[in-house]
Amino acid sequence: MLIRDFRQGRGFLARLDHGADIIGQITDLAKEKEIETGFFSVIGALSRAELGYYDQVSQKYGSIQIFDPMELVCCSGNISLRNKQLFVHAHAVLSDRKGMVRGGHLNAGIVFAAELYMQELLGLPPERVLDQVTGLNLWSEE
Ligand code: ZN
Repeated sequence: MLIRDFRQGRGFLARLDHGADIIGQITDLAKEKEIETGFFSVIGALSRAELGYYDQVSQKYGSIQIFDPMELVCCSGNISLRNKQLFVHAHAVLSDRKGMVRGGHLNAGIVFAAELYMQELLGLPPERVLDQVTGLNLWSEE
């Protein structure tokens, strides 16, 4: 297990823009506030979304397109670095008008309305490096 200690930094509440991409909005806020490490949660509604599913055998992401308006029941994720650049990793659970849920890695989503909480973490930012075992860009000691 790789463990790194952080101190809690600033906390932000944000209302995301209607019609904007949720990942872009989270990235913009982190960049604007110069947050290199942190975590966040978002609740609200998306007018469409693209989820990802990582096939552990083929080690490739599949894409799941959702064109219907969905509740954003839960979205959580973290902020770290990849190739020295800020990288947002988010997962989401979405529900339809019958309350049926779908979820996965959140590639993209158009915000209908959404409220975000972002927590800055202070310390040496973890860097994502390609992991040969999983094929994923995971936090590394390097
Ligand atoms: Zn993921």
